[in-house]
Amino acid sequence: MQQSPLPAQGPTTESFWRASPHSLDDHRSSPDVPPEVDICVIGAGFAGASTVHHILDICNSRGQPRPRIVILEARQACSGATGRNGGHIKPDPCHQPSSLAVTHGIEAAAECAAFEAQNLFAVKKFVEDEGIDCEFTLTRAVDAFMSDAVCDKVMAAADMLRRNHVSVMSDVHFAKGSDAEVLSGVKGVKGCISYSAGHLFPYKLTLQLLSRAIDAGVNLQTHTPVLNVTGQADGDGFITVTTSRGSVKARKVVYATNAYTSSLLPEFTGKIVPVRGICSHITPTKKPAPHLPSTYIIRWSDTNYDYLIPRLDGSVILGGARSMFYHDLDSWYNNVDDGQLIEAGKSHFDGYMQRVFQGWEDSGAYTSKLWTGIMGYSSDSMPYIGALPEKNQQFVVAGFSGHGMPQIFLAAKGIASIIIDNADFQSTGIPTVYQVTRARLDSKQNSIMEGWEKAQKSSIAFNKI
Ligand SMILES: Cc1cc2nc3c(=O)[nH]c(=O)nc-3n(C[C@H](O)[C@H](O)[C@H](O)COP(=O)(O)OP(=O)(O)OC[C@H]3O[C@@H](n4cnc5c(N)ncnc54)[C@H](O)[C@@H]3O)c2cc1C
Repeated sequence: MQQSPLPAQGPTTESFWRASPHSLDDHRSSPDVPPEVDICVIGAGFAGASTVHHILDICNSRGQPRPRIVILEARQACSGATGRNGGHIKPDPCHQPSSLAVTHGIEAAAECAAFEAQNLFAVKKFVEDEGIDCEFTLTRAVDAFMSDAVCDKVMAAADMLRRNHVSVMSDVHFAKGSDAEVLSGVKGVKGCISYSAGHLFPYKLTLQLLSRAIDAGVNLQTHTPVLNVTGQADGDGFITVTTSRGSVKARKVVYATNAYTSSLLPEFTGKIVPVRGICSHITPTKKPAPHLPSTYIIRWSDTNYDYLIPRLDGSVILGGARSMFYHDLDSWYNNVDDGQLIEAGKSHFDGYMQRVFQGWEDSGAYTSKLWTGIMGYSSDSMPYIGALPEKNQQFVVAGFSGHGMPQIFLAAKGIASIIIDNADFQSTGIPTVYQVTRARLDSKQNSIMEGWEKAQKSSIAFNKI
């Protein structure tokens, strides 16, 4: 596999969230990149902005001088996955933890599930305490299972987690058959679970984090792709970060580069793979819009699913459409093209609400916007967080596999304490399985391709019946 290219230049498909750009979207704090800083953060998405927020927070809380920080962003602020996602902050109590229980043991599963739940409430607290206007709404997420096979599998997994006293299961409610249909409002659902989740306006949250950082003296340089970073510091302790607009000498470097991490760090080739996704904004014409009580993931099979959040204006953000293009590997795998829609996925969203949800039949709901975005899928499904094994004073916070919103805020808090206090990874509260290790980088595992190959075999078998 090739290293990821840099974020694609040129026009991108416009997401709902980025339709009215913030005044800092193209911001450059100084005409040139600063020649020397203490910390260089690459990437101005939720991960980069959160890392800077927590670094400043640690320093402010101690009355300690703030380090000199530059954020280098290849395109506009928050123009990557964060500015193009589904707006769902949905801790996963069951799906991934049940796989993790098999591969890494029940403690690892419980740790990851609890960490994601903590993230939801950490973001809620931050937004409320600081008066951040990002439309954060605490809700229940419903996982709707559309076949008996999917339903039975998840119910068995949930039962196993409950029997093993995984703490987040106390927040999970189960329903089957007609009860599930009433609870979820999803037509023909076989069963469902619900649990605490949230939805928000991710671009607004990230731009406010960046705005506060700039007010605190952080230098933001948009439209400044980083082209190269030296592996080791020079004799004076500086790492050289080369951009399209000149070089920055930094004592520490943070890669918050998600899908594009391997463009700068070849050791992440095949470890964090760019994966293209498609998302939509659905507008009902009927007023008031039909009530949608929860956020959702609609699971049609192990690999095909859609996800959606209601917005308080009655519209819906709906993403997924994997059933339309998942078989066509080149259309999504190792693909950084967010300038074009995924052709095969385009029609999936038309009439979706009418087909899937009770009470939406006469809603007149139509697809008002469509866009693509690039996720950073990790080869073992776990984010990569922490110090790089052989590159002193270089740190990664990336590889969120299309699920970063309930992972990033506290992962960034942990990375901030590693950077500022030289904290031990184990003391940060970040799940152990997220840590960047040489063993993970050397592993030949590729769970993205394993899942795809399995799905292709079962669809061939299904077609032969
Ligand atoms: C269509 C879609 C739907 C999604 N829906 C959800 C959802 O509902 N819930 C959820 O939890 N997650 C969702 N995700 C995933 C979620 O958006 C990500 O996990 C999260 O935003 C990752 O944040 P980040 O800051 O790590 O990455 P990004 O937001 O991608 O930020 C990385 C930044 O680094 C910059 N960069 C990269 N390389 C360089 C370089 N060499 N030089 C300078 N800058 C560079 C990029 O331009 C980019 O701005 C979705 C993603 C997509 C694409």
